[in-house]
Amino acid sequence: MSDATPQFPAPRSQQRVSAGGRKKVQLKPGRSLMDWIRLTKSGKDMTGLHGRLIAVTEEELAKHNKKTDCWMCIRGMVYNVTPYLEYHPGGEEELMRGAGGDGTELFDQIHSWVNYESMLKECLVGRIASRPKTVSEAIENQSGLKAPKQKLLNGTGNLDGFEKQSKNVPLRHEWFQTEDTITVVIYTKQKVINLDSIIVDLESGVLRTEVRQQEYSYILHLELCHEVQEAISVHCSSKVGKIELNLKKRNSIIWNDLGYPQELHNSYKRKTDRGLFYRKCTLLSKTDVSHDTRLLCFQLPPGCYLTISIGQHVYLKSNIQGVEVVRPYTPVLPTLYVDPKDNDLTCTNIYLMVKIYPDGLLTPLIDRLQIGDCISVSSPEGNFKHSQLEGITELILLAAGTGFTPMIKLINFALKIPSFRKLQLLFFNKTEEDILWRDQLDQLALKDKRFTVEYILSEPHPEWRGKRGKIEMSLCSEFLTGRTEELKTLLCICGPTSFTEQAVGFFKRLGFNSEEIHAFSG
Ligand code: NAD
Repeated sequence: MSDATPQFPAPRSQQRVSAGGRKKVQLKPGRSLMDWIRLTKSGKDMTGLHGRLIAVTEEELAKHNKKTDCWMCIRGMVYNVTPYLEYHPGGEEELMRGAGGDGTELFDQIHSWVNYESMLKECLVGRIASRPKTVSEAIENQSGLKAPKQKLLNGTGNLDGFEKQSKNVPLRHEWFQTEDTITVVIYTKQKVINLDSIIVDLESGVLRTEVRQQEYSYILHLELCHEVQEAISVHCSSKVGKIELNLKKRNSIIWNDLGYPQELHNSYKRKTDRGLFYRKCTLLSKTDVSHDTRLLCFQLPPGCYLTISIGQHVYLKSNIQGVEVVRPYTPVLPTLYVDPKDNDLTCTNIYLMVKIYPDGLLTPLIDRLQIGDCISVSSPEGNFKHSQLEGITELILLAAGTGFTPMIKLINFALKIPSFRKLQLLFFNKTEEDILWRDQLDQLALKDKRFTVEYILSEPHPEWRGKRGKIEMSLCSEFLTGRTEELKTLLCICGPTSFTEQAVGFFKRLGFNSEEIHAFSG
């Protein structure tokens, strides 16, 4: 993943993909995120109100609907976004869709992981003057943080007054205890629970559990009444749709209550309607993969339970000059071919392959991390579905540069399945020095005849004997000639946006339909 040209949302973010083919625009020189940060720090009056905050009526808001005078309301706060328009990677037109109105939904759909408050804080005009809430908004609020510090009654998550208000929550939880343990049980009403749909964080006595069900997620979020040990274990009984969280008490005392509700506790919301959740991970090791790319291993905190499935990415977050900078990275494996026995589903460590861009915002900071340093890592996100691999006997992988990262787990997964017949990687790079894990790829091709790899270099040294150039139609069709086997194929593409778009176009012209293609960047 690159931070050479900072983009919001980043090019491979789920939000970008789900935005229905949303295009990023070429920003004018001097309009990068770093330039925006500089401008906001310059002391310039960004609102025209000299720092005064005002209450804005809806009528007043509606008047500010022109590019030269554009206000937008996000979650009740009104921002003057005119100074930001030229810095918006999605383009002025996209931002103008919320001009003079409530842009919350627009923002949630496309930018839910961006901390707009830190991005736009200098543009804050004030608060929207209160208006009557709609019924749905009122219900929404009830399932949020607004509850007082109120304990849950012993034994159940449903008797409590606060919880009764969350009527539409299809999941239910209860808890019980022994002298030394606390067990929290979540009933999902789902016959099959995937382990990767459960994310648990236990930190400083606060338990946060997220259960994901397609587009929605259920949040159980409590400050526990008494101390527990750091580690947590998670069990699933798929047949009855039950998830069990096992905690160990620090002191053998009887608990009367489980805990105090925290933000979004007992809510069932669209995933896009809740922000990303981060935990601090510790850098365990850092090794060079190439002249500019590192393999970093981060350790999750002991109270964290999560799995990162094929094709999912996480976000790294850091505060740079007061602005939250967030970038997505696709976790990889420690090596290309991890023995199935060693490849546990749940992870305690997250491996990231990060290309360091000297002019980037976040990657130089990542490169400076020392062993033992921490960085915030989000829960996994992504729109690649494991079901896309069901019945597939051939994978064609097109990767450009660090677009190789999602391919690593795909290769690892496919080659473990005996019925998989063919796996081809077309790997586009500038020079030979840029090819990531070339030794491993070559060795794998020797070891497993189902796997082949072809390197295509756009800026090769004169002595390069392999393929040259960038992605083009002739290369794609040449690659497909002579295919006679009856194979069920999935084509996966990842790289710079333009690379991905061109590749998708070429393969569609060659007869691939949308279901047969997964493009990792939008
Ligand atoms: P790079 O600049 O080193 O380029 C690698 C190769 O990509 C080039 O040799 C060329 O063949 C091809 N390429 C580059 N720009 C192109 C263009 N405009 N049109 C056609 N082909 C082009 O690559 P990098 O610096 O490693 O960047 C990799 C890109 O992959 C980044 O943009 C990153 O955001 C993206 N990426 C996406 C995901 C994801 O979506 N999940 C994951 C990892 C990386």
